[in-house]
Amino acid sequence: MRDLYEIIGVDKNASLNDIKKSYRKIAMKYHPDKNPDDKEAEIKFKESAEAYAVLSDENKRRQYDQFGHAGVGMGDSGGAGGFQGGMSMEDIFSNFGDIFGGDFDPFGGIFGGSRGSRVKKARDLKITLNLDYSDIVSGAEKVIKIKRHETCDTCSGNGAQHGSMPTSCLQCNGVGQIKQMSQSFFGQSVTVRECPVCSGSGDVIKDPCRSCGGNGIQRKSVEIKIKVPAGVADGNYMTLNRQGNKGPKGFESGDLIIFFEENRHSFFTRNGEDVITQATIQFSDAALGLTLEVPTLDGKAKLKIPSGIQSGQILRMKGKGFPKVRGSSRGDQLVRIQLETPISLSANYKKLVEEMSKLNGKLDPKFNRVELD
Ligand SMILES: [Zn+2]
Ligand SMILES: [Zn+2]
Repeated sequence: MRDLYEIIGVDKNASLNDIKKSYRKIAMKYHPDKNPDDKEAEIKFKESAEAYAVLSDENKRRQYDQFGHAGVGMGDSGGAGGFQGGMSMEDIFSNFGDIFGGDFDPFGGIFGGSRGSRVKKARDLKITLNLDYSDIVSGAEKVIKIKRHETCDTCSGNGAQHGSMPTSCLQCNGVGQIKQMSQSFFGQSVTVRECPVCSGSGDVIKDPCRSCGGNGIQRKSVEIKIKVPAGVADGNYMTLNRQGNKGPKGFESGDLIIFFEENRHSFFTRNGEDVITQATIQFSDAALGLTLEVPTLDGKAKLKIPSGIQSGQILRMKGKGFPKVRGSSRGDQLVRIQLETPISLSANYKKLVEEMSKLNGKLDPKFNRVELD
């Protein structure tokens, strides 16, 4: 059996990138479309695909380096140096999506549709992240701890107990799928099903890893850094691709979906991009006017209260609200003024108020229609 590095045309220390590049060249050269009815080219094409499948997989490559062909389920019993079983043409083509990258199509879409199909994905993970208004204003960086399925440390994800190795599934020849022929009224039809013996992984584990039970994954606590976009609101969510659960072999990782929830603030209320608060001031201050120091989302700021302000009037502080998620503008802070009527008056104060009342003269109360909303 030929050395896999030799087939790809790289040396033992080649990087994954070199392996990929070299394989790409070989695959193009021996592609069946360029070499119709050439048995020799077809063999070379398949051989290189199988070698690439091993050398591009960190685990398999390590096992091959250590144990040779037997380590990766490539027996020598095939005779005549040929590969036995192994990958079907369909498998080779369906791997091209990964090998050549999503937007590179070396074969001009001849095999369109074969790539990216039957990708199984592990479960998405959904979490809620509570945010203070201060986090939302500046767009905080948060480190959170989550529990998710990760590759098992003990077996490095191959599912086999230490000292043993997964072997190629005999039922499906390591392909993970079984073709079934059936006769019907319309003639012969072929259905492709997931192999029931290996559940589509192509491997059979005789002595399963005791840490993970053989599926190669383990629940682990991990820390994840999240960049919270400025301006997010209650109910907004963010998807981190492939940061969710890892799946068993052959599965793509799930996504991590983060739902944002705002913490209640003691004196700010959010209304879209605006923030609302209420300031209670003395009626004498309302009459004379003053400059107030008011808290804002970015710290304290000065607010001029004009003399003669009425209870219930709203003052607007431009640009002191929340930022827009997309864009550079910000909402406003609205300050609702509430007048406080003194409750217990000192003798002196009472005298002054009585003086004021005399100065005001007799004012008849006014009546307004109240609009219900
Ligand atoms: Zn394990
Ligand atoms: Zn199988």
